[in-house]
Amino acid sequence: MPTDRPKIFMFARGNEEGPAFFEAAGCEVALGSADWANPTADPPERMVALARDADALVGTSIKNSRIDRDVMTASETLRIISKYTVGVDEIDVDTATELGILVTHAPTEANWGGVAEYTVTLMLTMLKKMRERDRWVKETGAWRDLALTGTYLGRREDGYGGITIGIIGLGRIGTRVSKLMRPWDLRIVAYDPYVADAHFAELGVERMRTLDGLLEVSDVVSVHVTLTKETRHMLSAAQFNKMKHSAVLVNTARGPAVDEEALIDALRTQRIAGAALDVMEHEPVSPDNPLLVMDDRVFLSPHMAAHNHGAGIGPGIVWGNEDVLRALRGQVPEHIFNPEALSRWRERFEGRSLL
Ligand code: NAD
Repeated sequence: MPTDRPKIFMFARGNEEGPAFFEAAGCEVALGSADWANPTADPPERMVALARDADALVGTSIKNSRIDRDVMTASETLRIISKYTVGVDEIDVDTATELGILVTHAPTEANWGGVAEYTVTLMLTMLKKMRERDRWVKETGAWRDLALTGTYLGRREDGYGGITIGIIGLGRIGTRVSKLMRPWDLRIVAYDPYVADAHFAELGVERMRTLDGLLEVSDVVSVHVTLTKETRHMLSAAQFNKMKHSAVLVNTARGPAVDEEALIDALRTQRIAGAALDVMEHEPVSPDNPLLVMDDRVFLSPHMAAHNHGAGIGPGIVWGNEDVLRALRGQVPEHIFNPEALSRWRERFEGRSLL
């Protein structure tokens, strides 16, 4: 039964308290089945049914279903889609903008800082052969083996030049990765056509004018772009062919930025040496994905770079919930991802409080 209370569709809970928070604020809540631990969302028809007549959609990242035109047009009064996390790639943002719906997100340091730390951990895990050494000692009971030799990263006074790390996308996470790696005294290059020269200079990061230029010189290639039409499959066979045979790919951004089939081929043919992936093209990973059985060339983790004690989703929930309440009060929310929608939104909703 419709009520006169504003309706929230929570497509993926950030914590157990989420529904009660909005009910206490005077809202009616329709609850999807996904949550922060399990991002598998309701099937598309159910998403549409739950979004019927909603004024706000809110949640963490989801897989398998998208917030597309069908979901958005299930309600004529939808005014905000609020994400508790950084990425908004499961939302058809162009359609939201066209319809005058605001999309907000939560790029909290707790989230992106955690991803940067994890990226560095992945690099070091691969370069220092952490898994291999641990397993060698525990499983064989043997001692040194030169096949377990790691990589020295930094420049040395004796003339050793150190390695080069190539960062694709010098935004929040790419920037933090460069700052974390700076004290290791290695060469850091980055490719990001949308960032000013001054930002590169301030970080002491060398600007590469082309992606190919970065791929040719990097010993580690680390992906930190947002997923857009332009960045989908930005690393495919042609790009792997530009990389060093000894290079390692790290992807903590979004799976589809890398053409996974081409990556599998590049690893099989030893075109590149390894890959550490927190994100995959299809999540959760399918049991027959060849990456699962590719020995230590491949390190996989279940999209958990931002899951950390002392950080994680908490601050993102605060931002996301507050953005929803502001929008329901007819006030402009703070963390807008699609400011192009704002003038249309103002005409439709500004000053019209539902609370
Ligand atoms: P951001 O928006 O701050 O930075 C992204 C950067 O990519 C921007 O500087 C942008 O200019 C650049 N970029 C866009 N298109 C590009 C292109 N074609 N070539 C080169 N650079 C391009 O985003 P962020 O907060 O740093 O997040 C980076 C990525 O990490 C996003 O994909 C985000 O979804 C992902 N992420 C993953 C996790 C996880 O759990 N693994 C958590 C948070 C964020």
